[in-house]
Amino acid sequence: MEKILIVGAVGGGATAAGQLRFYNKDAVIKIFDRDSVMSYAACGTPYAIGEVIEDEETLLMADPEQFKEKRNIEVYLRHEVMGIDREKKNIQVKNLMSGEEFLESYDKLILSPGGTAVVPAIKGSDTADIFSLRSYNDMLAIKQYIESHNPQSCTISGGGFIGLEMAENIKELGIDVHLVHKSDYIMSILDEDISREIEKELLLNEVHLQTNAYITEIDGRSQTLSNGGVLETDFIIMSVGLAPNVSLAKDAELEIGETGGIVTNDYMQTNDPDIYAIGDASENFDLVTGEPKRVPLAWPAHRQAYIVAKHIIGEPIAKKGLLGTSIVKIFNLTAAMTGLNENKLRELEIPSVSLIHNGNSNAGYYPDHGKLKLKIHYDPNTREIFGAQCLGTKGVDKRIDVIATAMYAGLTVDDLQALELCYAPPYSSPKDPVNMAGYKADKK
Ligand code: FAD
Repeated sequence: MEKILIVGAVGGGATAAGQLRFYNKDAVIKIFDRDSVMSYAACGTPYAIGEVIEDEETLLMADPEQFKEKRNIEVYLRHEVMGIDREKKNIQVKNLMSGEEFLESYDKLILSPGGTAVVPAIKGSDTADIFSLRSYNDMLAIKQYIESHNPQSCTISGGGFIGLEMAENIKELGIDVHLVHKSDYIMSILDEDISREIEKELLLNEVHLQTNAYITEIDGRSQTLSNGGVLETDFIIMSVGLAPNVSLAKDAELEIGETGGIVTNDYMQTNDPDIYAIGDASENFDLVTGEPKRVPLAWPAHRQAYIVAKHIIGEPIAKKGLLGTSIVKIFNLTAAMTGLNENKLRELEIPSVSLIHNGNSNAGYYPDHGKLKLKIHYDPNTREIFGAQCLGTKGVDKRIDVIATAMYAGLTVDDLQALELCYAPPYSSPKDPVNMAGYKADKK
């Protein structure tokens, strides 16, 4: 009977186990995770902190008993995988509760160890209440701190996805929020003009923003910034990045790529064909450029789990490149993007032109319509779409999802005008913004 071991029981790991059991009723499947909870929705944790999600336990999708009962999958929580012996095809596991160590053999091994929040070493860090948000237990720690300390102010370091979601959710609790961001503008995956609109939304909602600034020293409630400024706040949230958990893979001499992720082939196999790597710790490639790319988001982790399951059962489906399609809510605004942004196109010296369509999310006469900005980068000669970004109060997700689909299908920017998209006044216009962008490209 085939024996499949999985490291990591959340986004990619739990999904891979479920998919494998769906296709293979007989295999022995065991999952190991060093954490005390499994299969939770990490993406919901900022909203549980902000009490938009009232019961944080709704984020817990399954527990080991359910996995055993419903799927005959054994899950070992508080068990850390310490090493991989590729010759003998076993892993070394440490039971973190008892301290006991044991070996577990495998036929196939799936690594889905995710990443760890980067917490920079800053002088005086030990004098302050500092948190990062990576896991369910990180969320509980932040919630418990807020409940027990009743803080009035917070500094968030890092204006990426998690930093912005935390800024909104903490502000909504009535806590004064200072957001500091190291570079010139927040959300560096977006184009500057889109990011600047988000900055305005933050200011409108009384989040104090400082760009070109980072914390250099901490002394209790006081934080000195690189620009000479000083902030006085009750606690700090560090959201400056994610380091892929690749030490296990490195120690086992699995290849690590230029993005810092574990190199994988079309079927998510590492350079050892019996070991797969998926999720935040795996390296993939960019759909547009073919360059190595690592996208630490939930969609790739889930898709890759499926690709691995299909490969193991002998029905291989090759992975496709990633676009990094993503979305974020900032108070009343939503920003979404897919593909390459202006900076990346410039850096790679790819000749491109951009069009911007400013319009409405849906019929202008319908009460709750909103403004929408849609921006598309494309090749002026071949008309290939390189990437798109959208900003607005409504319907942003739909437009970017349509363009991401168009990119996967290899449609050109001119094809966008001919897409027959759904319309009724509450949702769109007879010519959807995506169609309008296609017509505009034609005029250009
Ligand atoms: P994870 O889900 O992080 O799971 C990795 C697991 O491996 C962890 O539980 C860890 O304990 C375990 N592990 C690591 N090393 C070992 C070891 N040696 N032994 C045993 N266990 C080990 N994505 C989106 O697409 N949209 C969103 O809105 C979004 N919001 C997010 C918000 C937050 C606050 C966070 C933290 C993430 C968010 N993500 C979002 C990202 C998404 O959650 C991840 O991309 C996804 O969970 C990745 O799955 P994974 O399996 O690679 O890693």
